[in-house]
Amino acid sequence: MADDIIQTLRDIVGAPNVLTGKEIEDRSAIWGTNQPCAAKAVVRPSDTEQVAAIMKACHQRSQSVVPHGGMTNLVQGAVTTSDDIALSFEKMNQIEDVDRTAQTMTVQAGVTMQQAQERADAEDLFFPVDIGARDNCMLGGNVSTNAGGTRVIRYGMMRDSVLGLEAVLADGTVISSMNKFLKNNTGFDLKQLFIGTEGVLGLITRIVLRLRIKPQTHNVALVACDEYEQVVGLLNQARESLGSSLSGFEVMWDNYFHEVVRPKGRQPSPIEAKYRFYVILEATGVHVDSDDEMFEAFLTEIFESGLVADGALAKSEAEREAIWAIRHDVEWILGAALDFDISLPIADVYEYSEAVSAAIKDEIEGAKVVFFGHLGDNNIHISVQCDGARTTRAHTIERHIYETLRPYGGAISAEHGIGIEKKAWLSVSRSEAEIELMRMLKRSLDPKNILNPGKVISLD
Ligand SMILES: Cc1cc2nc3c(=O)[nH]c(=O)nc-3n(C[C@H](O)[C@H](O)[C@H](O)COP(=O)(O)OP(=O)(O)OC[C@H]3O[C@@H](n4cnc5c(N)ncnc54)[C@H](O)[C@@H]3O)c2cc1C
Repeated sequence: MADDIIQTLRDIVGAPNVLTGKEIEDRSAIWGTNQPCAAKAVVRPSDTEQVAAIMKACHQRSQSVVPHGGMTNLVQGAVTTSDDIALSFEKMNQIEDVDRTAQTMTVQAGVTMQQAQERADAEDLFFPVDIGARDNCMLGGNVSTNAGGTRVIRYGMMRDSVLGLEAVLADGTVISSMNKFLKNNTGFDLKQLFIGTEGVLGLITRIVLRLRIKPQTHNVALVACDEYEQVVGLLNQARESLGSSLSGFEVMWDNYFHEVVRPKGRQPSPIEAKYRFYVILEATGVHVDSDDEMFEAFLTEIFESGLVADGALAKSEAEREAIWAIRHDVEWILGAALDFDISLPIADVYEYSEAVSAAIKDEIEGAKVVFFGHLGDNNIHISVQCDGARTTRAHTIERHIYETLRPYGGAISAEHGIGIEKKAWLSVSRSEAEIELMRMLKRSLDPKNILNPGKVISLD
């Protein structure tokens, strides 16, 4: 006799869409690991009505539910126990509509980022949010983590690409807020409750995405600097000379770059690997007659003013991809290393990086502290490699990374979210009053604490 909730779920979505036993263990619990998933069942609804019915049934039984998107989050945000029901959005993968005049795309939450990008492109439009996990991550997961990526400097984070959404509350109530307008101040902007809240306040089922004009020109260059001050000068110059066409400013410290490019790594580099900082500059635009010229003039300017020591302009799509491949080749650090994703004032980043690196190396002999990231958005990633980085040494490393951040008023999560991994450090970046307000919202919307319990905030 099946557990009562399992039978109820089968009645709602059909038996083949309720996975149990070995079928669950074959799924991974945490991206990039072989840790098997544990759950009472994985349920795979195909529309909002089914999600609402699932939540109603689970609410009646005080049954916990953990939403699963593409499972690419890096903060243990979708981890389940054997007592939880995992609700996977993988069957909710329909693109419902593209409105070319309104420049919107309406999707179910299980559509992948790459599917949305490709469909927008086929319609001669552009979906700008782009991250390395694009082929696996799903738009529901992207909204619930407010994903960032490499084009935030121009188009903002996921929040800036969401016009409306539909969500199901813990008790099964459907909140349909499928706004399609750029302007709509009709009362509270309820979608914001579900953007970036990692599935603890509601389950996102459908989304109205904001699309943009498709860029007609694309310029990418890789440049190198000897000093951090030059990197900051370069950013200011790029903002001034390229204006709103600046769509990417990615910085890699030498200990990232030299590891990824040949001969040590696998990526070819168009410039020599002998500098301290490397920057990928990207500009996109619609002025086919003048954008390339403007970008080349900008490169000449930064060479002549001594801001950069070396550089290469990509001349073809293949060369552009080869430069970006250096920045996207991150799997070598995501495995055994402990990874961080922080924000702080751009002017303080170097001082912070030196302080944190020295503190960790002082306490952990042989540790490697690698820096790279979306500097134009105040955001750097840090990867710490040493024996026990993810286990016995984790707390020591976290203490140095986060406590050193305090005086700069930094954010412990720039884009990956909090999940379980960063929960203990929330107070470094958020006041007690802010955390209490988060708890108040959670208690009001989910009084039985059944939605993604234990993630982001503790209720006690
Ligand atoms: C190689 C790689 C590169 C990455 N680069 C970036 C980057 O540049 N920028 C960035 O921001 N992130 C990046 N990430 C992190 C990750 O891809 C993002 O956080 C992404 O948005 C997660 O989407 P997902 O579908 O995989 O969500 P999941 O991992 O499945 O879930 C993420 C969180 O949202 C909840 N959730 C999932 N679906 C829903 C839903 N429909 N409704 C409510 N809650 C839901 C989950 O319970 C969990 O708490 C990267 C990850 C990898 C592996």
